[in-house]
Amino acid sequence: MCLNHFCCEEKLKNHKSYCGAHKSARIEMPKPYDNTLQFKNYNHSLKVHFAIYADFECMLQKIKTCQTYDETSYTNAYQKHVPNNFVYHIKYSNGD
Ligand SMILES: [Zn+2]
Repeated sequence: MCLNHFCCEEKLKNHKSYCGAHKSARIEMPKPYDNTLQFKNYNHSLKVHFAIYADFECMLQKIKTCQTYDETSYTNAYQKHVPNNFVYHIKYSNGD
């Protein structure tokens, strides 16, 4: 059993229906009629005077030496991102 805690009996009851006899993670896909994720809590956002939008462009450079280890898991790095360009835009807002 997991160590979750719940604020009320009903939430605990709902949780028990899928916890315990199943895997430790529950996969819950969005419903077809409700499959758009969007920010809703605008009351939690803060106004800022400045916003900076930045972007990097990179060239992929091949890595010539990579060593594999058959006994353990490993990451096979074969390319390296070499930045060659960037741009940033500073947006000032005076409250408008
Ligand atoms: Zn649980």
